[in-house]
Amino acid sequence: MAKVYLIGAGPGAPDLLTLRAARLLQEADIVFYDALVHPDVIAMATRAEKIAVGKRCGRHSTAQKFINKRLVDATRKYERIVRLKGGDPMLFGRAQEELDALDAAGVAYEVVPGITAALAASAQIGVSLTRRGLSRNVAFVTPRIGEMERESDWVAAAVHADTATIYMGAGEAERITATLIARGRKADTPVALVESASLPGARVRYATLRALPHLAAQSGNGPAIILLGEVLREKLAAQLASAMDCEVNAQAPANKRSA
Ligand code: SAH
Repeated sequence: MAKVYLIGAGPGAPDLLTLRAARLLQEADIVFYDALVHPDVIAMATRAEKIAVGKRCGRHSTAQKFINKRLVDATRKYERIVRLKGGDPMLFGRAQEELDALDAAGVAYEVVPGITAALAASAQIGVSLTRRGLSRNVAFVTPRIGEMERESDWVAAAVHADTATIYMGAGEAERITATLIARGRKADTPVALVESASLPGARVRYATLRALPHLAAQSGNGPAIILLGEVLREKLAAQLASAMDCEVNAQAPANKRSA
């Protein structure tokens, strides 16, 4: 009987894939993959037909309804169908719509978790998102509103969580900063912008919430996540200290000359 496997491809680095995901990819007859999935992961599906159905903001994307239909249709022709999504499929991946469509069509499925961007970013910077005495809860939020969606109250969670992780937010940093401060988050809350976590081109910068728009303005093309909370305080201080060192060193020769 045909089965659809909804698989998390992890944050980018191919070797962060689970063993189960790797095995299912090798066995797959057809793979529908998203834009952020690493080419080496897609290449593991050696026998499969490979179909891009990627969604990246501002670029061409396949409508969700059409993806749902293609998954169901594929069960007529193929036995092992893989739907590959970046990170974990069940976070900000519209997985429920696909699962509901499969349920409605009576198609069997299995979900294979992956490492989500927030956890890859935490690993990248070496900062635990929870910490004794400082952070006992973590929120996963996104300010992005899809078509047909209402403005949900992501703000309350990001204001009140000890640590907030903000997906799909780097392009809206100004609005995020203004909204969070207006709703009561302290302007000097430390933030980190982590770009391409787990990949060779990873970039990490720290600032206070007030200065987040400056960080975001300098970010590159990779996917980026915002982390926010007191757990980042030491990293922010270390970045400021090393920036001051650089300034002092840069000035040192001039000082010597003038002495
Ligand atoms: N299901 C995915 C999230 C999809 S939404 C997951 O669990 O990770 C896409 C957003 O995830 C991006 O806009 C970005 O905010 C974040 N993201 C994905 N990969 C990332 C990476 N390698 N580094 C930083 N952020 C990443």
